[in-house]
Amino acid sequence: MNYKRILLKLSGESLQGTQKYGLSPEVLQSYAEQIRDVAASGVQIGIVIGGGNIFRGLTGAKRGFDRVKGDQMGMLATVINSLALQSALEDNGVRARVLTSIRMEPIGEYYSKARATEYLERGEVVIIGGGTSNPYFTTDSASALRGIEIEADVLLKGTRVDGVYTADPEKDPAAVKFDRIAFDEVYARHLKIMDLTAFTLCRENGLPIIVFDMDTPGNLGKVLAGEPIGTLVNN
Ligand code: UDP
Repeated sequence: MNYKRILLKLSGESLQGTQKYGLSPEVLQSYAEQIRDVAASGVQIGIVIGGGNIFRGLTGAKRGFDRVKGDQMGMLATVINSLALQSALEDNGVRARVLTSIRMEPIGEYYSKARATEYLERGEVVIIGGGTSNPYFTTDSASALRGIEIEADVLLKGTRVDGVYTADPEKDPAAVKFDRIAFDEVYARHLKIMDLTAFTLCRENGLPIIVFDMDTPGNLGKVLAGEPIGTLVNN
């Protein structure tokens, strides 16, 4: 394995599978199996999950919710997803722990770098719920922040698309995929990989990003084994 410690970012939306809302047991099981297999190889795994399958602050604000409250609802949604993944992992024999960025014992212990690192070193999968705990941020920013804090070797962004393209491949059939791209080129080409807050955090702290398709079973293991799938973004 090329990496000792990773931060895996999963979108909330992907957890809904073919449903329009909520949690798909099939997707949870598929993710749990992939995570189980790489955890067994000794890689230390931190995970940040989004909440878009349940609630997004911005969508709420458009419907008249107060933005800050809407964002707090979104952050709570990430905790629901974190518990769902923890449960799926435990069902598959993986020791997993939820830490939360907002105090809410006994749902999870309060996140700190020291706690996260201690559990990672014990071989537990650590799921960090609650985003950054601040409104106006995203779970992409939370994953960048936690990835840097826990000194992950790489941020793995699992998506539906299999990498970074010259244009949106779902709209432009001529779009070409990058195997590797520099942070600066992503800015220059105005490519959208993450929101710029998250992206800039990674760039300024030298945390490489790999964008890959997590919905194809086995891909997580392949990325970690160094197989050329997805797109590597680095300096
Ligand atoms: N959120 C927030 N602060 C954070 C992380 C998330 O306010 O640090 C809120 C925000 O409202 C966001 C929602 O939680 O819309 C769900 O997170 P996100 O949209 O990143 O989830 P994803 O798109 O990955 O499912």
